[in-house]
Amino acid sequence: AADEYFLLREAAASRAIPGITAAEPHLDWSAVVGWKDGIVNRLNNGVTSLLKKARVKIVEGRARFVDGKTVDVTGETGTQRIAAKSIVIATGSEPVELPMLPFAREPGGKIISSEGALALASPPAQLVVVGGGYIGVELGTAFAKAGSKVTIVEATGSILPLYDLDLVKPVRARLDELGVEVLTDARAKGLAGDAGDLVIEGANGAERRLQADSVLVTVGRRPVTEGWGREELVVDMDGAFLRVDEQCRTTMRGVYAIGDVAGEPMLAHKAMAEGEMVAEIIAGQRRRWDKRAIPAICFTDPEIVSVGLSPQEAKAEAQRSGGEIVIGQFPFQANGRAMTLARDDGFVRIVARASDHLVLGIQAVGAGVAELSAAFSLAIEMGACLEDVAGTIHAHPTQGEGFQEAAFKALGHAIHI
Ligand code: NAD
Repeated sequence: AADEYFLLREAAASRAIPGITAAEPHLDWSAVVGWKDGIVNRLNNGVTSLLKKARVKIVEGRARFVDGKTVDVTGETGTQRIAAKSIVIATGSEPVELPMLPFAREPGGKIISSEGALALASPPAQLVVVGGGYIGVELGTAFAKAGSKVTIVEATGSILPLYDLDLVKPVRARLDELGVEVLTDARAKGLAGDAGDLVIEGANGAERRLQADSVLVTVGRRPVTEGWGREELVVDMDGAFLRVDEQCRTTMRGVYAIGDVAGEPMLAHKAMAEGEMVAEIIAGQRRRWDKRAIPAICFTDPEIVSVGLSPQEAKAEAQRSGGEIVIGQFPFQANGRAMTLARDDGFVRIVARASDHLVLGIQAVGAGVAELSAAFSLAIEMGACLEDVAGTIHAHPTQGEGFQEAAFKALGHAIHI
């Protein structure tokens, strides 16, 4: 919705494709949030009816383990005890709270988590985002497009520190265009003064105060491993997560764990794949986790996609076995479709083993590249070589041609660059 509104504003300011102008758009935030809630409800209700259709009994309430085969569920009508041969823990994760910036307990409070940000009555005039990771940059971008003045405060030397700088650069450039201020090597210290300014400290120890109507804290999420009776179980931990094996079994017989509580990456599609596998294992089938790659997408502007190994990871792995890697990169500046979308920033990059050209990793940054993740994941899951990607006809004009071109480039015979 923020994207749509932003595009109309760009047209109103005559900054769209030459020849397209529009009247200044109006944003009815509560209507937009209502529309979003409608989609969320539709998806939730859809899942509920699927469960009903599959004759799954749903018990609403808070569960607490009594032992490895029994839980007590406390709901509106009291507590009931449920015993089972197999139990799947999927308690997920929760936002990390900074001690000096505790989340507001009431609606309308200043310090909010991602959940609070999605429930705001209107885009704040001034929004400060603490933590420039996935959520911070995604939501910061959305609010900037919805009209907020956004400042992102990131503790490390770059936003999205999980990605290499080549991938982050186009996102950083776009944030500048959107008027988002990015402060790196900066930490939030707390609120100060009558107006509740956010105090931040730079690398050199210098303090600065930032005015803010809302402070969105997105410094990571942590698995929910307390509050449901873990102490009644004998389960090993793996850092902050529950330890699971390649069948998502915890160290206690019959107790499985999936999703954010069972380890990185904390992504919905990883949880979904684990859940599907565990259901089949419990149903008596022979399954184990044998995925080659889990795609990760940062829904920023432009979007970042990463599947498999980054160039650095691939290089490190190759060095261990005395091998080498090849990399092919294709810029969207040379892609017709990207030009007609008026967005030719970004590129597709492919990383392969030099000896047999097995594709090890694929990354892309560009407007709308999230949709390319399916092709990238399929290539890696099927064990594609550079020749497979280069030898596949990619439709013209599409951004996907950049994938084929990157493979050509890695093979040493790029056609369009
Ligand atoms: P994150 O780990 O991606 O980023 C947190 C950022 O906060 C880091 O860059 C870190 O350096 C910074 N930081 C930490 N402490 C700080 C401080 N005191 N001051 C300033 N900066 C500080 O975490 P997130 O963005 O909260 O997301 C949590 C998880 O949710 C992610 O790990 C991801 O798996 C998942 N997620 C995924 C998607 C997606 O796939 N598109 C979207 C949202 C969330």
